[in-house]
Amino acid sequence: MAFDVIIIGAGAAGMMCALTAGQRGRRVLLLDHLDRAGAKILVSGGGRCNFTNVNGGIADRYLSANPHFAKSALGRFAPGDFVAMVDAYGIAWHEKTLGQLFCDGSAKQIVAMLADECAKGGVETRLLTRIVGIAHADGMYRVETSAGEVCAPSLVIATGGPSIPKMGATGFAYDVARQFGLKVVEPRPALVPLTLGADDRLFEQLSGVSLDVIASSGKTSFREAALFTHRGLSGPAILQISSYWRNGGEIALDLLPDAGATMLVDAKAARPKAEFRTVLRDLFADRLADALADRLALSGTMAGLKDQALADAGGRLKGWRFTPSGSEGFAKAEVTIGGVSTDGLDQKGLMAKKVPGLHFIGEAVDVTGWLGGYNFQWAWASGRAAGEVA
Ligand code: FAD
Repeated sequence: MAFDVIIIGAGAAGMMCALTAGQRGRRVLLLDHLDRAGAKILVSGGGRCNFTNVNGGIADRYLSANPHFAKSALGRFAPGDFVAMVDAYGIAWHEKTLGQLFCDGSAKQIVAMLADECAKGGVETRLLTRIVGIAHADGMYRVETSAGEVCAPSLVIATGGPSIPKMGATGFAYDVARQFGLKVVEPRPALVPLTLGADDRLFEQLSGVSLDVIASSGKTSFREAALFTHRGLSGPAILQISSYWRNGGEIALDLLPDAGATMLVDAKAARPKAEFRTVLRDLFADRLADALADRLALSGTMAGLKDQALADAGGRLKGWRFTPSGSEGFAKAEVTIGGVSTDGLDQKGLMAKKVPGLHFIGEAVDVTGWLGGYNFQWAWASGRAAGEVA
């Protein structure tokens, strides 16, 4: 069966691309191997979908081997453009923190909106469809599926990255890229909890404790909450910094972002009779304070402790350094860093420069956003860009 555009992957980017191309009058076929469209949208933002970020158009919130690549698509479809769609459907939303926009109700509303817009564009959606192979000859892409062959002069790969295989994620886009001679930037898990080695396991007992920190890796820092888990560390600050961390690298946590480095020396002057542990308990949750006191190997009254020892301890609390043993991997990673290299794609419609009619969009491409609605904004913007030209 012949179409104008075949899109493989009915996620955020694929649906946006389909509705855009369909509403331009193109005959669009949208394929997915799962039994529903928008599976990741449905679970995103704890079921409320953090659908964009008011700063989602700022290119330096995205990681890529070519940090300038995303600017074009992001500039042409801004967070406000998606908000306008959401508003037109009467979907109530709120800004939570750091510019993050969430549905008041449910992520299902976003999927229903995209499905409705696809229907308006006459998009044909086929779910539970396995892709067997792709061939390209005489300007046509022939896609062999579990339900027969379909063909079109434009083929859009919107199958995301391999994060969370349990949800149907695959590295399919990379296989297609390699088949057509495009490079793939090594994919690795991002926005992912980090694990701690035996040396830092002291913190195992702290599972569930969270605190405000500044997490740093190299020159990059994020101030947000960190959460101790039974395997290591998670929470927004850790997920953010995980995208910048490389295996074997060190991470520093400022556990007291609002305090000066001399705070324990000052506390000694103010409360000489207080126990060191008590002073820490005033600064941290009790379980964390006790674990830190053990780790710092200081006890007794403040008056009994040397200023230098307290200054050193303060320094450690301001810059707690550790080397994660690893991350929880693709099984738990919210996104994938790396992917189809932007070198081989044109910025306007994300089409392969040397393979006319073949587009890659969304997470499949080597563009990865910060936590907080940036990844959906890239999915919408890149989907829109390809949908306008496919
Ligand atoms: P996807 O949404 O992953 O869609 C890819 C589609 O392709 C899927 O439907 C999949 O079934 C299909 N597919 C894959 N392989 C094949 C194949 N071989 N054959 C056929 N079909 C295939 N980002 C935010 O901005 N805000 C959030 O609140 C947020 N929350 C998240 C929560 C979780 C738990 C996770 C895992 C991610 C979250 N993200 C969030 C990231 C966001 O979901 C992704 O960046 C975004 O979905 C990428 O869109 P995409 O269309 O490129 O890929």
